[in-house]
Amino acid sequence: MPAIEFPSLRPVLPRWAIPVTAGLIAVAPDLDTYAMFAFRIPRGSVLAHRGVFHSAAFVILLAFVLAWMVARSRTALVLGAVWAIAALSHPLLDMLTDGGSGVMLFYPFSDERLFFSWRPIRVSPLGIVAFFGRAREILESEMPFNALALMLGMGVRRFSRPFLKRPAAGSPR
Ligand SMILES: [Zn+2]
Repeated sequence: MPAIEFPSLRPVLPRWAIPVTAGLIAVAPDLDTYAMFAFRIPRGSVLAHRGVFHSAAFVILLAFVLAWMVARSRTALVLGAVWAIAALSHPLLDMLTDGGSGVMLFYPFSDERLFFSWRPIRVSPLGIVAFFGRAREILESEMPFNALALMLGMGVRRFSRPFLKRPAAGSPR
C-alpha cells in the first residue's frame, strides 16, 4: 500500500512567504476595528470589533477561501490548514486579554462574547498613541505567548518539512 503523500507548498509559495502570510492572516481579524470606525458600527454589534470577524467559523472559512484562490485541491487544504491555525490563534489570544469586548468565537451558533477565565495579556488600546503610552507593560505581558508561538512555529516547521520539499527531479509537476 502506498504511503499517504502530502502535496508540497513550494510550487505555490516560496518558503519565506509561508510564515509571512500566516502572520498577516493572524492579524487580519483586527481590520474589523477600521471597519467599525469607518462605517460607525455600534460597539455591541455582531459586525463590531471582536464580533463575527473574530469567530472561529469566519477565520477558518477565510483561510480556506484564500488558500483555494492561491492553490487547488490537496495543496489548498494543506495551505488552508496552516493559515486557519494561524488565524484561529488571534481570537483565542484576544480571549486571554484583560479588557475590551469579549470575542464572538462561536458565532453564528452563539453571539455570546467570550473571554477565558485566565486573562494575563494586557489589552492593547485601539489608538496607536494610547498604545505607545502603555507599550512596555503590554509587550511584557505578550512576551511568554510570543515565545510559545516561536517554539510552536519551530515545531511546525520541523513537522512540515516534507510539505516544503521540492518535487524530486523527474517527478511530474
Ligand atoms: Zn482582535
